[in-house]
Amino acid sequence: MERLGIAPSKKLGQNFLVDEQFLDWLAKYSGLKEKEPVIEIGPGFGALTVRMLAAGVRLTAIEFDRKLAGYLREELVPKGLTLIEGDACKTDYESIYGPDVDFRVISNLPYSAGTVIVAKLLDLPLPPREMIVMLQKEVAFRFAAHPGEDEYSALTARIANLYHTTIVKVIPPDLFYPRPEIDSCIIRMTRKEDYPSFALRKILSRLVRVSFAHRRKKMFRQAASVFGDELVELAMNTAGVDLDIRAERVTPEQFAVMAQVLIDKGVQ
Ligand code: SAM
Repeated sequence: MERLGIAPSKKLGQNFLVDEQFLDWLAKYSGLKEKEPVIEIGPGFGALTVRMLAAGVRLTAIEFDRKLAGYLREELVPKGLTLIEGDACKTDYESIYGPDVDFRVISNLPYSAGTVIVAKLLDLPLPPREMIVMLQKEVAFRFAAHPGEDEYSALTARIANLYHTTIVKVIPPDLFYPRPEIDSCIIRMTRKEDYPSFALRKILSRLVRVSFAHRRKKMFRQAASVFGDELVELAMNTAGVDLDIRAERVTPEQFAVMAQVLIDKGVQ
């Protein structure tokens, strides 16, 4: 860092993994296959990147920090890394490997943008086959929450329709430099075989967003303000959901049934 004149940026969530043993474990745990397409977001100094390259994966990394990108261009692009210098919140992911190519995301995500990046990936017509990512603990628990829990949110319901999510490990601050103030977590999100179509996910996103807009309010009123009383009543009845319920008690599957009813009735 001294050589490159870098002071770690809080704004860019720069907490670098420095524990070699843990990095080896993470690479092994990820079950990397030769030539499989992988995207790494926020490679930093490339601690995980070098391990993935050593395993022979086809690797594209997206780094926002200019100095780090310059370092990676010099050190790792000659070793096979494809580098995109830019903001992972704005990257066109479909153009990296092509719209029909399955890929995995394996990353220690920046705290600052992790949620936005994952939400963007969920919206791809072909979302990543798997994501093994490190996030702040509280966000990871939100991703893996269940209906009725405080952490259950609109994003949780969207994730649960697409992925089987497991909390793999809680990671203490001392594995990073600089040490973050909070614990981190590795989560593994494996895409479901029968994940919902792009069209259904689009409506599902709109439905969960409006339904969770005010957590303490009943879902019906909020959803009806967008989709109309009649349609929402039909959708909730079809999904077997009580009209008096709040969104936090509705399961991801019930949201999907409701979204399907809305589509069947012509909502786009
Ligand atoms: N992977 C490295 C490691 O584990 O040591 C670094 C991880 S660090 C938590 C996050 C990295 O993401 C930093 O290198 C930071 O510059 C980069 N970053 C932050 N915001 C970004 C964004 N919007 N797009 C791409 N990279 C970003």
